[in-house]
Amino acid sequence: MSDSRIFTSFHEKLMMLSHSTDFINERRDRKLAALAELCAEALGIERVSVWLLSHGHDRITCEYLFDESLRKAGAAEYDPTEPLILYRNDHPRYFELLGKARLIDASNAREDPATLSFRDNYLIPLGIHSMLDAPIFDGARPSGVICLESLRPHNWTLPELSFVVAVADTISLINTHEAWLDSKRKLDYITHFDSLTGLANLNSLRDRMGYLVSKARHLNHSAFLLVWVDLDRLKAINDGLGPQVGDAVIAETGRRLSELKLPGKDLLARIGGDEFALILDSAAQSEAVDRISDRIRREIQRPLKVHGQQLTLSASLGICEYPTDGDDAESLLRSAEAAMYCAKQQGQSQACRFDTSIQATARSRFALERELRQAIHNDTLNVYYQPIYNGDASAMVSAEALVRWEHPERGLLSPMEFLEVARGAGLMYELGRCVLRRVCLHLQQARSRHVQMPVITVNLAAEQVLKPELPDDINAVCKDFGVCPSTLHFEVTEDAIQGDSNALRTILKRLVKAGSELAIDDFGTGYSSLSRLKALPFSKIKIDRSFIMDLPNDEDDCAITLSIIGLAKGLGLSVVAEGVETEAHEQWLQAQGCQFLQGYRYSRPVPFATLLERFIFNARVPIAPYRD
Ligand code: C2E
Ligand code: CA
Ligand code: CA
Repeated sequence: MSDSRIFTSFHEKLMMLSHSTDFINERRDRKLAALAELCAEALGIERVSVWLLSHGHDRITCEYLFDESLRKAGAAEYDPTEPLILYRNDHPRYFELLGKARLIDASNAREDPATLSFRDNYLIPLGIHSMLDAPIFDGARPSGVICLESLRPHNWTLPELSFVVAVADTISLINTHEAWLDSKRKLDYITHFDSLTGLANLNSLRDRMGYLVSKARHLNHSAFLLVWVDLDRLKAINDGLGPQVGDAVIAETGRRLSELKLPGKDLLARIGGDEFALILDSAAQSEAVDRISDRIRREIQRPLKVHGQQLTLSASLGICEYPTDGDDAESLLRSAEAAMYCAKQQGQSQACRFDTSIQATARSRFALERELRQAIHNDTLNVYYQPIYNGDASAMVSAEALVRWEHPERGLLSPMEFLEVARGAGLMYELGRCVLRRVCLHLQQARSRHVQMPVITVNLAAEQVLKPELPDDINAVCKDFGVCPSTLHFEVTEDAIQGDSNALRTILKRLVKAGSELAIDDFGTGYSSLSRLKALPFSKIKIDRSFIMDLPNDEDDCAITLSIIGLAKGLGLSVVAEGVETEAHEQWLQAQGCQFLQGYRYSRPVPFATLLERFIFNARVPIAPYRD
């Protein structure tokens, strides 16, 4: 046969093999085996092997070996788990060529400088005379080599040289294809799974519900339950103990929920930061649903230890059922979420099953959100003021601005009734700006009437203190109304003081630089550490109302309040007690040296006009408390 005929027949064989669908769908080891056997058979040689080059190019590892003599003797195939490895240090010349040559043609391998180093330990013991090696390239990078070895002296012909290069290129294509499949699999994983917990994600949950719904429609039966599990107060953990602890808590919750055996459990997914959802594939009776939700809540409430911290969590559950509460994935998700909100409103660790009243609430929540957006847009939110007094309650030192919404149909709404809606709709920053504008407008009005106003304390939400533009925004609003920024002080809840974020520190420092004092609000309810308090520029601590409420009868609350007062003293911070309602509260707090008092005992929050009349126009200096 002429060289060109041989050449053509080799290439035809390779083409036929590499383009057959069977080959394309084969596993990698089978592909390598088929190529190796093709080489052995076409060239009439005894050994063909494929090697992987390490990333550092310091070694090659045999991935597949075809050895005719082993096969004839019926011996075991090459075992890649106990691989042959050759090192660059032992074969420097060969490795150098691997990086740059297209071919290593060593017809007389035992003498050839490229392969001489293999002579005593490899070629002679194995009886090899000729080697023909073609590096495999992935792009411009060598990634391996295919080795053809003949036990008889063999002068490699031109068609053979060209053929082995083509086989090396085929392996390179296989590598590229596999890398592509692998990245596709990874992408698929990312789009369908949650990387923190390894659970399915919201996309998968939607897909699965879509499938169950279409199956149910065809089979004309089968209901299923969707349980929405929302961790209570995860944000406080994230903020107080750091996001690593938060992540560990989420991962542990995912683990617990996935190990929990529940009847008809179909798919568990993590569908948001601290939200999980479970599909239970059966129509369950109410008692069964109650049992299931109890078990989930109990499982989550088991104390857990993360990063050396003992924590107790709880979750709110919203439960709905297909087809009663929704006939597709989206409406089921909405129903379960609405039920979960209803559970949250009842306190921590509650469960709610979706029903028509929840549906109405969800609808009205939706309407409320729309109206709130309007109110913020039109700048119609109002602000009431609650005075804060000095320690002996003889003089008003400042007043806290508290947002109010005069709703056209529902009347005056307190923040408890709409802040969650604002938060859920991502409106907190805008709402905060609205409050600031209103406060500045009031200050402007007072000034135009030559009224000396006390300092106004404004509440800042987490969404505000985490925005770098906050200080500039506050400045701009003050400028608009001709208000000096130092007449505004701020309260930030303990929950909002995130980790050890530098950005937060910078923002707060800028506020202080502009002349504002900062207080930590609702102190005692979060997880602030002492070191964090020291690092942030707060000058006041506001003890949460829940600790004041039962003073002086509740021993625990007394102890907590005392320790907060002590802690504040140690840090050089002053203390404000909020929620002071009774004389007993007042006396106890005064005895402990609490510097500032606020509460219904002195005044409820009042409209701006009332603040002026009651406390300012009528006041001789100092401004005396008004008792309701
Ligand atoms: P807060 O900052 O802890 O405000 C104190 C809340 O306790 C006020 O409720 C006040 O009316 C109420 N309160 C004051 N003294 C007493 C008392 O003696 N007894 C009782 N039972 N309650 C008392 P309000 O105005 O409904 O505000 C609720 C919460 O809404 C505030 O709690 C604050 O966290 C938030 N908030 C209010 N206005 C704003 C605002 O403009 N921006 C932001 N981000 N949050 C605000
Ligand atoms: Ca406050
Ligand atoms: Ca407070």
